[in-house]
Amino acid sequence: MKKLLPTSSAGSLPKPSWLAQPEKLWSPWKLQDEELADGKRDALLLSLQEQAHAGIDIVSDGEQTRQHFVTTFIEHLDGVDFAKRETVRIRDRYDASVPTVVGAVARRKPVFVEDARFLRRHTEQPIKWALPGPMTMIDTLYDAHYRSREKLAWEFAAILNQEALELEAAGVDIIQFDEPAFNVFFDEVNDWGVAALERAIEGLRCETAVHICYGYGIKANTDWKKTLGSEWRQYEEAFPRLQQSKIGMVSLECHNSKVPMDLIELIRGKKVMVGAIDVASNSVETPEEVAATLRKALQFVDADKLYPSTNCGMAPLSRQVAQGKLHALSAGAAIVRRELAGQG
Ligand SMILES: [Zn+2]
Repeated sequence: MKKLLPTSSAGSLPKPSWLAQPEKLWSPWKLQDEELADGKRDALLLSLQEQAHAGIDIVSDGEQTRQHFVTTFIEHLDGVDFAKRETVRIRDRYDASVPTVVGAVARRKPVFVEDARFLRRHTEQPIKWALPGPMTMIDTLYDAHYRSREKLAWEFAAILNQEALELEAAGVDIIQFDEPAFNVFFDEVNDWGVAALERAIEGLRCETAVHICYGYGIKANTDWKKTLGSEWRQYEEAFPRLQQSKIGMVSLECHNSKVPMDLIELIRGKKVMVGAIDVASNSVETPEEVAATLRKALQFVDADKLYPSTNCGMAPLSRQVAQGKLHALSAGAAIVRRELAGQG
């Protein structure tokens, strides 16, 4: 019988201090050239080992080979000039200097496929791989070529599809698209955002997921959250359209957030990765706290479709805290698994 409540982390995990400065998001690499390539692979194995030690069921690369969840992918594409910078507003929240789209975007060679093969060779467990979603990608660029957010998103969707098909062939079991922008641009989500995501998964037979969150625990995000009021109902905008979509799984933020849990009802039928670990706090959850979040989620998602997870990535946390949180996630899921077995 298939194991109920398989655990996974939503995204990045901390990097070792010899590879990049710890507890810092988008930290520059400490190594260069061949040493950097070796170091990234070593860090990937270490991250895999830490996930296995914590009892995580669906493992990932911990994003050890990338500096940024969007930019690292875009760096590998044609058509984007990283030297030509413009200041734009990211997710309607903070200003940033971003690269410029100067010509047709294209993917000349695979971006993460070698890394995925490497991960596949080193574990028998199911593996999940994260890619940025089209809408989140366009939101981190200045577009001087297409001059249309939608047009650029469709171009990226086609490129993501090429990468996703090769990741699947490399043995990836779940391909996840990170779309925090789905929590901000509701009209676009419904007009073309979800459709572009469906373009990105065209022809895939593996599991597909979309991760929609309230972001890392950085100041721009915590400040933004303070403006959202006592109930965060953002998911209400995208979920009905997502429920109708071909995307198989939805990864969302639950623990310590003000998201009303009953919104999960809107995606009934989908597999749901429930965030039961707060990534914006250094305090490590107890297994019982994790279990309590999962029990609440079980009111709105069938047990065989519930995937306990973290709210978002844990790259900015210390390794010790992140490790503690992964252990708590496993232990909390185990409690609820035992309860479900008792009922059955
Ligand atoms: Zn996230």
